[in-house]
Amino acid sequence: MRVRVDERVVDVPDGATVLDAVRAAGARVPTLCHDERIAPSGACRACLVRAGSEVVAACTAPASQTVPVRTDDPQVAATVRQVVALMVERLPVRARELPTELAVVCDHLGITADAFNREGRGLGVDESHPYVHLDRDLCIACGRCVRMCDELQGTFALTLTGRAADTIVEPGTGGPWIESACVACGGCVDSCPSGAITGPTIATSFALEAGLTRDRVIRTTCGYCGVGCALDVHARAGDVVAITPARDGPVNRGHACVKGRFAHGFVRSPERLTGPLIRRNGRLEEASWDEALALLARELGQIRDTHGPDAIAAISSARSTNEENYLLQKFMRTVIGTNNVDNCSRICHAPSAAGLMRSFGLAGGTNAAEDFDAADCFLLAGSNPTEAHPVIGSQIKRQVLAGARLIVVDPRRIDLARLADVHLRGRPGSNVVVFNGLARLLLEGGWVDEQFLADRAEGLDELRAVLADYSAERVEEMSGVPAADLRAAAQAYGTSRRPAIVYGLGITEHAHGTDGVRTLANLAILRGAVGTSHGGGVTAMRGQNNVQGASDMGALPDYLPGYQPVADADVRARFTAGWGAQMPERPGLRIPEMFDAALAGRVRALYVFGEDILATDPDSGHVRAAVDAAEFVVSQEIFLSATARHADVVLPGASFLEKDGSFVNFDRRFQRVRPALRPPGQARTDFQVIHAVAGAFGADLGCRTPAEAMAECARLTPVFGGISHERLDAEAALHWPCRTPDDPGEVRLYLEGFATPNGRAQLAARHWLPPGEQPDAEFPCTLITGRRLVHYNSGTMTRRTPNLALVPDERLDINPSDAARLGIADGDRIEITSRRGSVTAPVRLTDDMAPGEVFLAFHFPDVAANLLTSSESDEVTACPEYKVTAVQLRRA
Ligand code: SF4
Repeated sequence: MRVRVDERVVDVPDGATVLDAVRAAGARVPTLCHDERIAPSGACRACLVRAGSEVVAACTAPASQTVPVRTDDPQVAATVRQVVALMVERLPVRARELPTELAVVCDHLGITADAFNREGRGLGVDESHPYVHLDRDLCIACGRCVRMCDELQGTFALTLTGRAADTIVEPGTGGPWIESACVACGGCVDSCPSGAITGPTIATSFALEAGLTRDRVIRTTCGYCGVGCALDVHARAGDVVAITPARDGPVNRGHACVKGRFAHGFVRSPERLTGPLIRRNGRLEEASWDEALALLARELGQIRDTHGPDAIAAISSARSTNEENYLLQKFMRTVIGTNNVDNCSRICHAPSAAGLMRSFGLAGGTNAAEDFDAADCFLLAGSNPTEAHPVIGSQIKRQVLAGARLIVVDPRRIDLARLADVHLRGRPGSNVVVFNGLARLLLEGGWVDEQFLADRAEGLDELRAVLADYSAERVEEMSGVPAADLRAAAQAYGTSRRPAIVYGLGITEHAHGTDGVRTLANLAILRGAVGTSHGGGVTAMRGQNNVQGASDMGALPDYLPGYQPVADADVRARFTAGWGAQMPERPGLRIPEMFDAALAGRVRALYVFGEDILATDPDSGHVRAAVDAAEFVVSQEIFLSATARHADVVLPGASFLEKDGSFVNFDRRFQRVRPALRPPGQARTDFQVIHAVAGAFGADLGCRTPAEAMAECARLTPVFGGISHERLDAEAALHWPCRTPDDPGEVRLYLEGFATPNGRAQLAARHWLPPGEQPDAEFPCTLITGRRLVHYNSGTMTRRTPNLALVPDERLDINPSDAARLGIADGDRIEITSRRGSVTAPVRLTDDMAPGEVFLAFHFPDVAANLLTSSESDEVTACPEYKVTAVQLRRA
C-alpha cells in the first residue's frame, strides 16, 4: 500500500498503522504509550497527527492509500505539546533530567523543566523487590507496564490505580511489589518511558538500549534454559551493568525471564573458582595450572596405560558451548581412546532423541517457536513452561488468550492448567495410557488424516491392535483421567487446524520415557500434523541452555557429532581421517553405567565437566559411592560444587558470560555466544582448559579457536555442513539440518519426507508398562521432582544472586488433605523418606498437587531431592525415573 506522509510517498504493508507509515517516511512523531511488543492503545495522545481532515492517534489509526498524513500541522503540534505538558506538570523536575523516552519527547516538543512540578507528589517509592523498583512520583500512567505484563508476559500483576492526575501503576494485589504476582521478567522495566519503573541498575532501560551509557554492549545467548533468548549484555570496567533482552532476538523478540534478565550476579561472586585446586593429604589446595595439568595427565595416563582407555569416562557439559563439547568428546576419543563420554541429556531428554529418531528420523523437535504463533491448539504434556521455559510459557499463554485451545497433560495443576480447556491429570507414570487413549479416540472420531497415513506413515494396523485395550473407560481406570476429559481433549486436538504438541521432562523422565515420546508422537502422525505446512509438530522443551548442542556435538557414547553412529565403520573411517587418530570402535558407557562401572572397579577415573552430578543425578548416595570408588576424579567447574569437593583435581572454567562459541536451543537453532567479561583470576574458558588438558598429554586437538572447531565439526558432519560462526554472526541463527553454506536451515522438519530409513513416519504400537517404582503400604505417596521459576538446576548460579531473596528455600508442595491427615500446617517441617534416603523440608499447602502426590525441586543442597530419587530408568536410554519416587511422609 502506498501512503503519502508529508512530502513523501512510502510503501507499507496492508494493515499498517499511520505510525508505521510515518516511521517508514522518516518523519518524527513522539510516542509514550507505544511499544512494538504489545498492541497499540492510543492512550497518551502524544502521537497525534493529521490524517486527511481528521486528527488521529498515529499508533492506532490504520494507514490508507487515500488519506494523506501530515506530521507538521502546527495546530496538532500545539495540541500534543499541551497534552504532554499536562502530563508532566504533576511530575517532579528530576523526571526531566533522567535519560528517558519522556525526556526525548519533551526535547522534541520544547517542554522545559519549568513545566514540571518542583515538589512532585510525594507518593513514595517501592524498593521491596530486588529487581523491580517503583518511583510512584515518576509514573505518567501511560499503562505500558500494565500492558507489557498482560500482553507480553501474561501475568496480569499490575494495574493502574487512582483517578485522573493521580493515576499511577501499582501491583494488582495492592501490597508491596515483592508480595505481588510479579515474575520479574523485566518487561515493565524495559518499557517504562518515564523512569518510574527501573531495574537494579542506575541507568534506565532507555539509556541502556539507546546506547547513552558508556557500556560495551555484547550480544549473546542466555546460559540458563533451553529457550535460547538473545540477550544484550551491558558491560563496563570488567563488570556486567545490566542485561536486556534483544528486541530482534530470534526466539525471544524482546522478552526474557528473571534468570536471563537479572540473575547474572553469580559471575562476580567471591566464591568463583579462580585457580586450579589439587588434593593433597586429603584436602583440596591451591595449585598452579602446570601442577594441576601434570597431575591430571600423570594419573589419567597411568590409568589408561594400566587398565585401558575404557577405564576413564567423561561427563560433558550441557551448560557449555558446542565447541567445548566438541573438543571434549574429541579429546576422549582421540587422546584417551574411548567412547566413554556422555552428557546430561542422558538424565533428561535422551528419550526424546531416541523416540523422535525412531518416529521421524532426527533427534530434535520437529518444529520451531515461530510455529507456536500459528498454532490453534496446544497439547502441552509434562512441561511447565511458565516456570521452566518462561519465554515460551508466555508465548503459549498469549496464543491461548488469543483463542487457541489448550490441553494440559500433567499430574500437577501447573500455571497453564488454569487456562486449559482440558486438564488431563493422570497419575504419575500413566502417560502411555493417556496417549494411547487419545490415539484411539482420534481414530474413532475420524479425526485423522487418512491420506497422510496412507502416503507418509506406517504401523497403523499394529497400533490399532494395541489400542483395542485403551477405551476411554479403561484409560480412566488405569490413569485416573476421567473418560469425559479424555474425550474432550481428543476432540480439541482432533478438530483443530494447526495443533502443536509441546512436551517436557514429565514425559521423558520415566521408566518408559521413550514409549511416552513415541506414543505422544503418534498423535501428531495420526493428525498429519507433522512434516506438513499446517502441522505444529512435536517439540521437546529442552531443559538446559545447550543440552541439545552437547548431544549434537557427539558428547554421547554411541554417536559422533550429528548423531553419526560410532558403530558405523564408514563414519569411524571419516572421523579417523578427519582427526588423524584411530576411532575407538566399541560404544561407550552411559552416565548411569559409568557410576555402576566405577563401583565395579571397571571405571577408575571420572572427568566431570560443568555438571554437579552429586546434586543433579538420581540416587545421590549411589553417585557419591561411585565418585568415592573412582581412583581419580576431575571436576571442571565455576564453583566448588558438591562434586568438585570430592574431586582430586579442580580446574576453574568460565561462565557463559565469559566465553566464545555457540549454543543450540530447544528448536535446533544455533546461536552465538560471545564473551562480555574475562574469567576471574587464573580461570580459563573451558575451550582453553580442554586444549591445555590435551596438551598435558602431548596432544594437539587442532582447531585453535571456537570458530575453527565449529568449522571442523561442519566438515565432518553433514547435517551441520552449512553452520559457521561467520554465518551465525551475519544471520543471528541457523536451524539444523543446515547442510551447505547456502542452505537456510530447516525451521520445520520433514516437509519433503521423514528421515527414517524408508522415509515414512513410524507409528509406535506400545502398551503401557508400570513405573519402575510404585507406592505401597510403606511408601504410600508419589514424589515428583522438577524446577521452579527463579532457580536453576542445582542452584549453583541462582542461589548466588538476589533470586535467593525471591525464593530463599525449598518447600514440599503437598495437598491440604494430606497435610491435614499428617497434622501439619503450612510452613511446618516434614520428613520425606524414600527407599534410599530421607530429607526434611517445610511444606507448602496447595491444591495444585493431587492427594497422595508431592513435589520437590532440587535447587537447594539442604533439601537434596536426589537423595530420594531412584536408579530406575528408561529401558531404552537409561534416563532416570525422576517423576515417580515412592515416599513416606512424617512430621519432622
Ligand atoms: Fe534465559 Fe530461558 Fe529465561 Fe530466556 S526463558 S531468559 S533462555 S532462562
